[in-house]
Formats: sequence, structure tokens, C-alpha cells
Amino acid sequence: MEIRIEKNLSPKAKPTDASALGFGKIFTDHMFMMDYDRENGWHDARIVPYGDLAISPAATVLHYGAEIFEGLKAYRRPDGEIQLFRPWDNFERMNNSADRLCLPKLDPEFALKALKALINLDRDWVPSAEGTSLYIRPFLFGNDPFLGVHTVNKAMFVIILSPSGSYYKEGVNPVRIMIETEDVRAVRGGTGYAKCGGNYAASMRAGEKAEQKGFAQVLWLDGVERKYVEEVGSMNVMFKISGTVVTPKLTGSVLPGVTRRSCIALLQSWGVPVEERLLSVQELEDAVRNGTLEEAFGCGTAAVVSPIGELSVDDVPYVVNGGKIGPITQRLYGELTGIQWGRRPDTFGWTEIVK
Ligand SMILES: *Cc1c(COP(=O)(O)O)cnc(C)c1O
Repeated sequence: MEIRIEKNLSPKAKPTDASALGFGKIFTDHMFMMDYDRENGWHDARIVPYGDLAISPAATVLHYGAEIFEGLKAYRRPDGEIQLFRPWDNFERMNNSADRLCLPKLDPEFALKALKALINLDRDWVPSAEGTSLYIRPFLFGNDPFLGVHTVNKAMFVIILSPSGSYYKEGVNPVRIMIETEDVRAVRGGTGYAKCGGNYAASMRAGEKAEQKGFAQVLWLDGVERKYVEEVGSMNVMFKISGTVVTPKLTGSVLPGVTRRSCIALLQSWGVPVEERLLSVQELEDAVRNGTLEEAFGCGTAAVVSPIGELSVDDVPYVVNGGKIGPITQRLYGELTGIQWGRRPDTFGWTEIVK
């Protein structure tokens, strides 16, 4: 399929102050779009000026939440080139999400080609200051113009780009988190493993409550037994207990993070034992009480790793590693960001230069 390009004839001024970029507030001059319907499949692939979408007020996405998305970044290397980190994994996951929500799948190779064409056109928007990146948001939604509850016949796939500031402007500071015992994020059999907007809508209340109590994130428990740890906020979570890194296994209600996968591969390459298994709150509580919980951190594309300095269990605060980032967390952060920004050799073949 050809990609039609309609250039933006009134490009915006690019931000000059990297420290004021923030996250997801500024968008580049162009976006990629294509349409789907049952008869024609995916068609009319195009790069057009960034702007509002026109959709029917009856569109499926607005009423029944038929939406999935991805989040990845393009990084400016020291040699000026732009590179992506494991983009294949994102489009593969998007297809798994599409499968769960009965949305049409993409040709991952074509989606990557479209993404590269878009980045190429807007390449001057990729920032170069320390810690900055171009955040990429592909999303796909059901667009049938009628209210009947039915699987989707019409859909739209869009990619927008947003130059974003450093997640850690004041250094990698550990956060306080609390265990959420009321709301659950996902259940087995539900949509937890899919990256869909609905999961986020359902998690806002707990996040808001935690924030009001002075916590950065909630630690989600499984929705069936409320016994096992699953994720932290919208990140995967890892705990170093007596020298072994333990991370919740992918039971169906945990999002299979690209950062999680990368952390596991790095840890294994360093000879650090990793266990993907069920981890009960009880085991975690025992580990904090008897001092065997050595490190705890969330991991995801936005933050890379986010050390947990304090864990609140039933309103009792437990400090992890003296409230400081631990050595394994620090090493993962250094290695991952080194590979992502092209400062360290990519021995895993995780990066792809945008040409
Ligand atoms: C996106 C996401 C993650 C992290 O995935 P990455 O691919 O590492 O960015 C973890 N949990 C949830 C719920 C997510 O939506």
C-alpha cells in the first residue's frame, strides 16, 4: 500500500526550551492515518497535517470503548541519527490487543514503515537534550456510525508524535506507593493483557485516591483473589528478594511490557536470577518485615525504571533500601537508557535506526 503524503503548509514553531516540554502536550506537524472497513480492509494510508479528527457521534469508540493504543519512543543518538527501541514488539502487542477487542489487525511491517515515514517527515521535532525523546502514540479504534452493540466493521488507525521532556528532571528519585485493596485494574479473562483505553479509565479512581494520600502510584493486586501483586500504576513491577528478582508472571491480567521483557533479558545476561511467578502480598510483607526485600521498582517505556522507596501496607509504611535507588535498579536504568539513546552498544539487536 502506498502512503499518500499531504504536507503541512503552515508548520508550527518547534519548542526551543527542552526543560519545558513535559509529556504529551506538544504535537508535531503531521500524523499518520488509515481507514478500515470490512469490504476494503485497511486503505487510504496517508500522512496529513496534525489536526482534529472528524468522527460520527455514534462511533463505537465513544460508546463502547473499542480502543487500543501503544506507547514507544524515538531517541536522538549522539551521532544525530534517530532510533526506535523494539518497535516490532509494540506492533505485535497491538495486534494481540486488537484480537482481544475484536478490532482489525495491522500488518506490523506496514505499520512500522508508516511510523518511520512519519518520523522522517517530522525528524527535526526529535529533541536532543539529555533525557528527551519523541513519544510515539499509535492508536486504533472502532468507528462504526451506529449504536448497535456489535463487533467493529469500521475502524481507524492513527499515529501521533509528541516531543517529550526528561522523565527524571531531578534525578531518578524513588517514589512512595500504596497497595490498592478496593479497586482492581484487571481480571483474568478480561482485558488486562491488552493495552486498551478502558483499562486506564477503570484505574483512574485508585490513582486519584493514592495521589490525595500523598502516594505516587498504587500497587495493583489480582482481581480474583486479591492476593497477588500484579503491576504498579501503569508499569510492570519487580522486586529483588534475597538476591533474586521476582516479577509477576503474565497470567492474562498483567500487561506484557517491552521494558519488563528487556529488564528480564538484561538481568539474565548479568547472571542475576529472575523468577516470573505469582508473588503474594503476604510474601512481600514478610520480605519487607524481615529485611529480605532489597529493591523494588516499576518499569515501563515512560520512566524506564521507577524505584520504589516506600511501600505502604494497610497504612503502615515500609522503607525499601533506605528509600534510595538500589544497585540493580540503577544498573538497569543505566544500561537501558544507554542502549535506547545509542550511547552503549546494542548487543541484543533491539534498536532500529530511522532512515
Ligand atoms: C504500557 C503499560 C506497561 C509498560 O509497557 P512497556 O511496553 O514497557 O511500556 C505496563 N503496564 C501497563 C498497564 C501498561 O499500559
